[in-house]
Amino acid sequence: MTEKDFSTGRYSRFVILPSIGVEGMKKIRKARVSIVGAGGLGSVTATQLTALGVGYLRLFDKDVVELSNLQRQMLYREKDVGKPKVDAAKEFLENLNPDVEIEVIQEEISVNNVELATDNVDFVIDALDKFTPRFAINKKCLEKDLPFLFGAVSGLTGNAMTVVRGSTCIECLFGHVDDNKLPSSTITGIHPSIIQLIGSLQIAEATRLMLKEDPLLTNRLLFIDIGSMNFDSIEVKSKNNCSNAKYH
Ligand SMILES: [Zn+2]
Repeated sequence: MTEKDFSTGRYSRFVILPSIGVEGMKKIRKARVSIVGAGGLGSVTATQLTALGVGYLRLFDKDVVELSNLQRQMLYREKDVGKPKVDAAKEFLENLNPDVEIEVIQEEISVNNVELATDNVDFVIDALDKFTPRFAINKKCLEKDLPFLFGAVSGLTGNAMTVVRGSTCIECLFGHVDDNKLPSSTITGIHPSIIQLIGSLQIAEATRLMLKEDPLLTNRLLFIDIGSMNFDSIEVKSKNNCSNAKYH
């Protein structure tokens, strides 16, 4: 693809941004990214990354599409109900932008297979709804010196933070969390607007990372409540008893 293609074609409205430019777009076209989870946050982040022309995207989810997903998971259509999410997502994303290499893996990431998400990528985007795999990815990313873009949503609220070496991590932030004691979206419900907000913030941070710029949400948690329209930024300090403390 020539510089002219970047300036006049598919990516022209992005390339014209002073913060992107042709050189930035070249970096984005070479970027390699994992998204763990193809639910609400995965729908937003995968769609935006594919549309803006990331080089390579690896997407994980073990589930099949259910009718109750369609209210917020915009990778899917009614015809996809019953199909593996990753297969429907791959079809949607390849139709959106054939420039992007899409790899999908129908697996749940755990401490035993976490390297599937971290091998041969530049960074990992969190689109999970459980803390156990999130902690495993957080730790592996710190070990491998890869950024990890944490995001979580529930009900009308959501939060986001970026973990890199030298900053605090989500184990410092949350300590131990027992997934079995957390209410699922079947109980709390979920508003599509909070998913779009948090996923979009993750992609704004991802863009900085693809451009090789420092992320902005390190050592602070962005908390959004669309029930009160409060957007808060909370300073987060590293903890000495964190199992990842040697990386902070
Ligand atoms: Zn930590």
